[in-house]
Formats: sequence, structure tokens, C-alpha cells
Amino acid sequence: MLRFAPSPTGDMHIGNLRVAILNHIISKQKNEDLIIRIEDTDKERNIDGKDKEILEILNLFSIDYKQVFHQSNNLKYHQQIAMQLLIDKKAFNCFCSDEALENDREKLKSEGKPYRYSGFCEDLSDELTFGLDAPFTVRLKKPTHDISFKDTVKGEFNYKPFDVDSFVILRTDKTPTYNFACAIDDMLTDISTVIRGEDHLSNTPKQIHIREQIGYLKEIEYIHLPVILNKETGKKMSKRDDASSVKWLISEGFLPSAIANYLILLGYNPPCEIFSVEEAIEWFDISKISKSSAKFDMEKLRFINREHIKNLDNMRLSKILGFADDEIGKLAKVFMEESNTINDLKNKIAPIFAPKESLDGFTEELELIKKCIEDAPFFDKFEELKKYVSEKTGLKGKNFFMPLRFALTGASHGPNLSEIYPYIKNYLGEIIK
Ligand code: GLU
Repeated sequence: MLRFAPSPTGDMHIGNLRVAILNHIISKQKNEDLIIRIEDTDKERNIDGKDKEILEILNLFSIDYKQVFHQSNNLKYHQQIAMQLLIDKKAFNCFCSDEALENDREKLKSEGKPYRYSGFCEDLSDELTFGLDAPFTVRLKKPTHDISFKDTVKGEFNYKPFDVDSFVILRTDKTPTYNFACAIDDMLTDISTVIRGEDHLSNTPKQIHIREQIGYLKEIEYIHLPVILNKETGKKMSKRDDASSVKWLISEGFLPSAIANYLILLGYNPPCEIFSVEEAIEWFDISKISKSSAKFDMEKLRFINREHIKNLDNMRLSKILGFADDEIGKLAKVFMEESNTINDLKNKIAPIFAPKESLDGFTEELELIKKCIEDAPFFDKFEELKKYVSEKTGLKGKNFFMPLRFALTGASHGPNLSEIYPYIKNYLGEIIK
């Protein structure tokens, strides 16, 4: 079983979508199910409706999952298991106040040392703690041995007990921390492989330690994906980068198939540049992903998007553009030379069907041409229409071609009218207005 575990705390990041797509691919390759776990235990950071939005995006990208569940539904298991760890003396109640912890943190910082829990509450007697009427967290005692694991992409890791530390598993309100809920849920759902962003690498020894303390020894394969950097700044793509939001990319007219193609390509050397997720399932080898961070390249994404639009079935493209006629799909493809996104295409097609009221310097000629085309018989070929309109109006040269192009396309420049005409000839009644 594999899992994708998004937090409903903001717009879905392309890094998260990449994690989802690779989970989908690996689940297909391993012939194991994928589940979606909405990690909603941090109530302060949850945003209403984001869980639905995440699922909509997963559907848009045809991520095939067996089940969705909200992590908060497992609260009783998290609390029961924490209780058991307390009974077994593997965990302890910690009464240290936020101020006391902050003082320790400042003190260690001023000494140039990393923060670690002081161990103050670890050995308090039960008699003492039972009588205390103060808020407390539950901490898991740090391990007594090193925690090692091998990451399929990033390699071998070894953490000292000091680095794992005695960390909080239940907050004062008795809700689980991320590491605790995650480790328990991975166990309860029998996860075999965890694929996630490399920002979670340092959480892995904590999660392994939690499961070891419960006595669950099944080994989970960890695959941490390198971060995606902004090409210009060299920093991790953050909320400030529009392109980090999947929703933004879609609204800009990038096709899901192209976004998926681009994200699979990041840090990978594929046998071909343009492919579908189904094709990638055939050859993708996750162990061959580059260990180093990948740079987000908007130009490359535009190029890939263009290729995917070109490969779309004409009727499908027409529907994406808001029509239901494969002629409009063909018409759009005439504009592909100068377009990279669906929005670029909409910006070319919409003026064709918009009213053409005036054209600077040629308003009279435009009226003449419109009237002439309105009264004209049907012409199958552009050359025939051109000849007819030119003869009827007596217009020549620029005075003819500029307003004719404008009357037919709503633009002053663009592909040859003879290339466009075959796909608009049946719409002249709607176009000439
Ligand atoms: N909720 C975490 C995140 O969105 C998931 C981490 C994990 O996959 O374990 O980053």
C-alpha cells in the first residue's frame, strides 16, 4: 500500500503534485493500492475546503486512489497508542512551559549549540506527575541506539539518539503531532513505500523510532524527492512563486497531461521528452531520479504544454476552448505557432467571434467588407471569397487586406487567412458582426 498525505493548509504546490503523481506511478508498477490521507490534525493551519480542492486536482490528474480518509478520524488510535507508550515508560508527560522551553532554546543558541530537550520531566515520579494540575505534552523518550535507514534516492542515513531527541508526540490538547500521527497511520494502513518531499528526511528517523517503540518492525521503503527550486533565485519554489501553485498553472492554460509530463521529467533522464503518465509507468525508474534539487523551468513547461496541445484530439481541444466542433480544434491548431497555452489559444479564438465595430483608420472599409460578406453567397475557398469581396467593394491593397483580416479574425496580424478560412467558413454569420 502506498499513500499520498497532503495537508489541507493551502493551494496544492507543484512539489506535492509531483509526489502524488510518482506515488500513482509506483503504485501501478508495484501493483499495490494508493490511499489518500488528508493530514488535518493541525487545526490552526487547516483551511476549510482545501481537502476538496486537493481531491479535485487529483481527479483532474487521473490519480487513481482506492480510498480517502482524514487523519483526524484516527485520533482515538493516536491517543490509545500514546497511552500505551506512557504505561510502558517509553514516553513521559512533559510539564515544561513554553517559556521554560524557549529559555532553554535561547541559552543553547547563545552557546552555539543546537536545541535539544533538557530531559527535565523524563524522570519525574508518577506520584509527582499524577498530582500536578498543569498543562502537559507527551514526549517519546529518545532512542538508545542509532537509527539508520536507506533512502532509495538520497542514500544511507544514520541518526544518533541525540539527533532524534525526546520529542513531543501529543500536544497539550492531546492531539498528535505530525510525526506521531504519520508513523501510526503508516503502520495502521500497512504502508510499504513512502514517497514524499525531501523536507521530511529528518522526520524519518523519528517515525521509525516511534514504530520501533510500538514494536512494529515492518520495514518501510523511503523515497524522498529532491526539492524544486526557482531557476532565477535558486531558492525553493515558495507560495510567492505563482508557478508553484497547481491551481494557478491550470488557470493559466496548462494542460494536466503537460504538467504531469514536466513534473516526471524533473531530475530524470527519460527515453523521450513528450509522454503520458501511462507511458511513464512503463519505463520510469524512481531510483534513477537525480539526488540534487531540480530547477523549475517555465520555458520548458511551455514547450511541453504546446506539444501536448498539438497532440490533442481536435474535438477535445474544441471542448476545452468552449466549443463542440472539431473544426474549432483544427482552427486552434493553426494558431499553435504563436501559442503555448490554452489561454493563448482562447485569446486568439475569442476575437474571431467578437463584434468588430471599428478598426483605426479603416472603419469605413471595414463596414463595406462586413456588409459585402453578409450578403455574399457561400464560398468554399478563401480565394473565391477574396475575389468576390475585392470586386464588389473595389477595395485594394492595404485598404482591402487590413479590414478583411480584421473582419474575419478580429486581429491585425496572424496566420494566412487561407489557412484559417476552411475552419471558419461555416461560422461567417456569427463572425461578421
Ligand atoms: N502532510 C505532509 C506534507 O504535506 C506529508 C508528509 C508525508 O508524506 O509524510 O508535507
